[in-house]
Amino acid sequence: MEKTGKVKFINEEIKKLEKLKNEIQDGCTHKETYIKFSDRVGTPKTVCSNCEKEIGYPTKEKLDKFLQK
Ligand SMILES: [Zn+2]
Repeated sequence: MEKTGKVKFINEEIKKLEKLKNEIQDGCTHKETYIKFSDRVGTPKTVCSNCEKEIGYPTKEKLDKFLQK
């Protein structure tokens, strides 16, 4: 397989996987969460431990608890 064909193939696979990921995240109830610092902005986010979806920002209470660890 030539290089351009490979990249095209990879991109198509990524698209498929992204779609699959979205489907999983849509079907997830996000019961278990953890706090993650976003690489780009450095702000804490609440992330689902199950599907890795960013749900939102943690409450101050949760953040304080997290930072104490
Ligand atoms: Zn989830």
